[in-house]
Amino acid sequence: ARLRSAERFASLQREIIRLATIDPLTGLCNRRGFFEQATQVRARTGPDRKLSAILLDIDNFKHINDSYGHEAGDEAIRACAEAARFDEAVAGRLGGDEFALLVERPLPESLEIAKGLRRRLASRPVKTRKGPITLTWSIGVGEAQPQDSVDQILARADAALYNAKTQGRNCVASAPSGLRMKEAPKIWSE
Ligand code: GH3
Ligand code: MG
Repeated sequence: ARLRSAERFASLQREIIRLATIDPLTGLCNRRGFFEQATQVRARTGPDRKLSAILLDIDNFKHINDSYGHEAGDEAIRACAEAARFDEAVAGRLGGDEFALLVERPLPESLEIAKGLRRRLASRPVKTRKGPITLTWSIGVGEAQPQDSVDQILARADAALYNAKTQGRNCVASAPSGLRMKEAPKIWSE
């Protein structure tokens, strides 16, 4: 009986950890789960291993909710979570309509991944109960500097995402390495 109760306790513990770190709508890591996994990756990648964050935010998503309803909006978020999956990346839904990937790749390769993700979503309407909906997202990519924490890598990607939004959305932007935001942003929309 004592063994059974220890097993039950261990399985409850696993369930609690799962609930605390997984986003129920998409099955991706939630913000907490993403930061936990990303921090582990950060800790084991030496300064010579390149690491980049890719931040994706659906464009004008409020309009999707307003036009098609919250349930279709949820379906759209699920479809975007599928579209954001990338092998070998830590992937998470950071909240609302924002997703993040942490990849062990340098900036140029990460930009190519991001461009592919942009094209993938823009070229294939997502299926919802209200019919197919074409969605786009804006993507910011930032490369880790040697001393960066996960927060700092994401801050770089976030600055780039801001540029992608202000440059017209449905595009990919890269963060200048020193976060010298006076540099002209680099934007890709093809
Ligand atoms: P932008 O292009 O600037 O990103 O515009 P936006 O309308 O997408 O603005 P923003 O990213 O700030 O809005 C996200 C919206 O997503 C706000 C909220 O109503 C909606 N949202 C957040 N979580 C959920 C959810 O779980 N389900 C649904 N259906 N909508 C959500
Ligand atoms: Mg948005």
